[in-house]
Amino acid sequence: MNIELDNIRKDFPILNEKVNNKPLVYLDNAATTQKPQVVIDAISNYYTHTNSNIHRSAHTLASNATELYENSRDTIQKFLNAKYRHEINFTRGTTEGINLVMYSWAMHNIHEGDEIIISALEHHSNLVPWQQLCTQKKAKLLIIPINEHGELMMDIYYKQLSVKTKLVCCVHTSNSLGTINPVKDIIEKAHLFGAKVLIDGAQAVAHAFIDVQALDADFFVFSGHKLFGPTGIGVLYAKESILNEMNPFHYGGEMIKTVSYETTTFNDLPYKFEAGTPNIAGVIGLGVAIKYVESVGFDFIQKQETALLQYATEKIQQINGLRIIGTANNKASVISFVIENIHTYDVGVLLDKMGIAIRTGHHCCMPLMESLSLEGGTCRASFSFYNTKEEVDTLISGLERVVRMI
Ligand code: PLP
Repeated sequence: MNIELDNIRKDFPILNEKVNNKPLVYLDNAATTQKPQVVIDAISNYYTHTNSNIHRSAHTLASNATELYENSRDTIQKFLNAKYRHEINFTRGTTEGINLVMYSWAMHNIHEGDEIIISALEHHSNLVPWQQLCTQKKAKLLIIPINEHGELMMDIYYKQLSVKTKLVCCVHTSNSLGTINPVKDIIEKAHLFGAKVLIDGAQAVAHAFIDVQALDADFFVFSGHKLFGPTGIGVLYAKESILNEMNPFHYGGEMIKTVSYETTTFNDLPYKFEAGTPNIAGVIGLGVAIKYVESVGFDFIQKQETALLQYATEKIQQINGLRIIGTANNKASVISFVIENIHTYDVGVLLDKMGIAIRTGHHCCMPLMESLSLEGGTCRASFSFYNTKEEVDTLISGLERVVRMI
């Protein structure tokens, strides 16, 4: 292991844990990423030294807490290259961000006969809301199919687009197969028909620099916990002009300007979409997590993850009876696989006994797994920049043992 990587691993205390008396090999980064000490300290320091409600009191703690909270918004604005800080709205995560768009935008803009396009690679959180909305509104849900490598069939997408298309919702990077989708092209083509586009960036933000202006995304959502930040915090980016037209999602404190018994005027952006006391510690932790990622740098992250993906792909396909599911040309550091005659759950349990954490099952993509005739879903090893080639070797020897055992 090189010194740089060795130092990075020291930033993540959990990587020193033992699980079932074995050193932890954490390869479930697509489910959630581990937290560096600076993020843990930021949350702890906030509660130890600054805890106070924001935006409302005159006292020092409150203004310190407000400053930390709003500083995070600035960090995220720069991280996504959003035009305005008020285009950054804090949510509980990707799922809530998508639901916010569904209730506050789509509910008022999708009508009978309209069409929404999603892809076959969507996580349930970017499928169920649109399916439910389409049922309620008598709109039509179209699905962009995938080829045998798990890549979107763009020629079919182009044909699906029409003046009826009002919204396209697409995952940037598939959590189940690792496919990185051509989202810029997807957005560009949808805009030719006047449709809005929502990009699910849950799996993208930890692996590559995202520029929402260059993408020209109308909505972009992600979760803090997949970006080395805390759980229960996420971001909805949307263009100012669209946010201004949207109705509030939740009603109550913070999102108001004036209230009488008869009527209410709503607050300015972004507070219009941040009703109630938010997850202040989560927002602060997320800001620190992003600063940490920036200090590591996407050059290092991508170099490390690409090397791990190549190394692991080469080795894993030599295992007897193992088949990789998802072989896209443009792929994130995720390997989904099945092993002949061994249930995915059994693979997961046996690896766990060796201290190796992977994910097994449908990965919240049941229709996709069904279309691939994978009843037990897949086993999924997902790598982050803090993983090592030695850990890949441990996974491979663990899988060889599993194959021998069964
Ligand atoms: N979209 C994708 C691609 C995901 O991988 C996930 C989580 O696994 C989600 C959405 C949902 O994220 P959250 O549970 O943080 O809201």
